[in-house]
Amino acid sequence: MPHSHSQNNLTGKVFDIKELAVYDGPGIRTTVFLKGCPLRCSWCHNPEGLSPRPQVMVNASACLHCGKCRVEGCALIDTGVCSGCGKCLRLCPGGYRKISGRIYTPEALTERLMRASAMYGSDGGVTFSGGEPTLQHEFLAAVLDLLRKEMDESGRRFTLGMQTCGYCGGEVFADIVRRLDFLFFDIKHTDSDAHRRYTGVSNELILSNLRRLGELCVPFIARLPLIPGVNDSPGDIEAAARLLDTPDLRRCLIRVELLPYNMAAGAKYSMVGRSYEPDFDEGTPRVDLTPFTARGIDASVL
Ligand code: SF4
Ligand code: SF4
Repeated sequence: MPHSHSQNNLTGKVFDIKELAVYDGPGIRTTVFLKGCPLRCSWCHNPEGLSPRPQVMVNASACLHCGKCRVEGCALIDTGVCSGCGKCLRLCPGGYRKISGRIYTPEALTERLMRASAMYGSDGGVTFSGGEPTLQHEFLAAVLDLLRKEMDESGRRFTLGMQTCGYCGGEVFADIVRRLDFLFFDIKHTDSDAHRRYTGVSNELILSNLRRLGELCVPFIARLPLIPGVNDSPGDIEAAARLLDTPDLRRCLIRVELLPYNMAAGAKYSMVGRSYEPDFDEGTPRVDLTPFTARGIDASVL
């Protein structure tokens, strides 16, 4: 049975909380990374955010291979899936193991976020990222509502934002977006086949949510990860600009941000016991803002 807000057993899994974030929206923010993602982008640099389950992360380059972490009853050894029990963490002499996927109730996460709220000012606030935050939409909606309640009760104002790949049901999308002051919406590829090849899913749902965003008219920043040979051709960038250039979207589009591929994307894969095997030739992507600026869309490179 799905959870509802009134049920007190609603919990969410968080794989990181970053304070004093300055690239995840206006002002000084706390960014919450919710665990689990329905996409498998070939260039993903947060492999610990993919699985919705808790996971142990090992600093593979420091590990002594001493075997002290092999505990009796370890679910990872027995079943191949870590339960997040944390027993092995205490046994590692170097502290090279940590759990990704801490469980919070909406109340506990809200309290944690309110502790930093004096720094937010009126511009800053909280941004929910991932993984894909809408995958835990009931938990996310509950936390957003609690944060609004805190604002109402304290008379303080700060802003609530989200970074999303846009891949979720239309009702879920609208339900979350209505609770936000702004969002970052990723555009990875305008061509459905290419989208499926590089992210594992086609883009129809994402494009329909983008249109929905235009109707809801919540301010948004379009983020384009620029991946060499995947979506950086003149035609690809032109198609992305054309996609955004509708009257509905232009009313609420704040700007476009291009995020050129970072060669360090694979750094964390060994920590979750995986190897990084991008499905493209790593290098520097072509960066071109003119398809946006020629249309009068504010665009910048991050
Ligand atoms: S946290 Fe450690 S001991 Fe527990 S299941 Fe995962 S790997 Fe095994
Ligand atoms: S206990 Fe720590 S150092 Fe030893 S094998 Fe396990 S992770 Fe590596």
